[in-house]
Amino acid sequence: MNENKRHMHVAVLGAGESGVGAALLAKKKGLEAFVSDNGIIKNKYKNVLSHYEIAFEEGRHTCEKILQADEIVKSPGIPDNLPLITLLKKKHIPVISEIEFAGRYCTAKKICITGSNGKTTTTLLTGNILSRARLNTGIAGNIGKSFAGLIAKKEHDFYVLEISSFQLDGMYDFKADIAVILNITPDHLDRYNNEFSRYINSKLRIIQNQSNLDAIIYCADDEIIESELSKRNIAAKKYPFSIFQRITDEGACLSHPLTSEMSESEYKKGNKLIININGETLEMTLENLALQGRHNIYNSMAAGIAARILDIRKETIRESLSDFQHIEHRLEYVARVHGIEFINDSKATNINATWYALESVNKPIIWVAGGIDKGNDYSQLKELVRKKVKAIICLGLDNTKLIKAFSDQVDIMTEAHSAEEAVQAAYQLAADGETVLLSPACASFDLFNNYEDRGRKFKNAVKKL
Ligand code: ADP
Repeated sequence: MNENKRHMHVAVLGAGESGVGAALLAKKKGLEAFVSDNGIIKNKYKNVLSHYEIAFEEGRHTCEKILQADEIVKSPGIPDNLPLITLLKKKHIPVISEIEFAGRYCTAKKICITGSNGKTTTTLLTGNILSRARLNTGIAGNIGKSFAGLIAKKEHDFYVLEISSFQLDGMYDFKADIAVILNITPDHLDRYNNEFSRYINSKLRIIQNQSNLDAIIYCADDEIIESELSKRNIAAKKYPFSIFQRITDEGACLSHPLTSEMSESEYKKGNKLIININGETLEMTLENLALQGRHNIYNSMAAGIAARILDIRKETIRESLSDFQHIEHRLEYVARVHGIEFINDSKATNINATWYALESVNKPIIWVAGGIDKGNDYSQLKELVRKKVKAIICLGLDNTKLIKAFSDQVDIMTEAHSAEEAVQAAYQLAADGETVLLSPACASFDLFNNYEDRGRKFKNAVKKL
């Protein structure tokens, strides 16, 4: 074959949502695609690949085939230290993420959201505002919908993308028109050689390639973000948001900035969220926000700033932020049984997320926690636990670390090995007017398939009471 006519070969590693999306886009753009997954590929994805006549293999990675590719699209779940990836890098075959790949075929405006916590919430909040403003918007990324797959099917004018650090690691030329950095706290350090600095650098890739026509929305209360931004030469326009400081320039803050001692009810009273963009001010009382809790003030501010930068009407933003539907597994109200409230925050898989959950509950808490610890430092929760938690139910296979951290902080600690057991125990321990909060601060894979499975089993058990 004449070498000039050889189509570019793309090997896609991992045949999940993002890998299959990338393969579809490659095919649509006339590239030769080969998908390789060393596990079992779900039937729904196999059907798609077969339908579009895309070659694939499962249960192995055939090196010879993969090494023939001009470029590799690697799924975010595959770690960089896999021997195959090391080999590819040694052979100078570029390894990129699906978002990087899809970005090449997208001229639409991209609002890209990252952070350790709050990505999904803020992505949905932002997407919701844009859709309500009747902008032709696609929502994709880490949220569970492939960006590449979406582009292969239909072009949108705007994309709101949730982007994880693993996706950012494979991004080089991609540029966010609006980048949002919500917070940076330790997470996934197992994939970063236990070096927090590596994880931080990965998150900051969200602003690479930006020009002075672009925007960065970020949390000014986060010392790590502040310090990282101050180290870099930044061309894009910065829009900070804060709940503790006044933001005098463009950005968002509260009419009465919080002090660290204020309780939830104190800070909400008469307080307003203020977004200042382009000489115009949007105000909204905190009580009107659909998503409550301090962390959601941040998320609402970030989404609101992004929408104002796009010049969306203030009324549309207020409406969206006030009638937004709760998202499953994120501080999700489940039921009230004999005056006991049950909340499912199964998505809280790290300390920071659980901190905000404990902070947002104003009643005595029966806290259901535990699972696979990703290197948690529980000392950060001790003060809140002492103040608010009446009993802890450890829902993990190995609860040693949790018990050691909290046995001298609360009177009652007990163990459970299924969601039903945990709910039963919590129900026995809780009194009228108290709250049972599932906010594990840990991953779920020891006892459950994933955090959704854990949350649903918890909810089902509550419904059976
Ligand atoms: P992500 O997509 O980054 O994992 P989610 O929106 O799914 O974030 O929320 C994950 C967990 O973090 C939930 O328990 C949620 O209540 C909590 N959370 C949401 N927003 C924030 C935030 N801004 N800061 C800290 N925790 C948050």
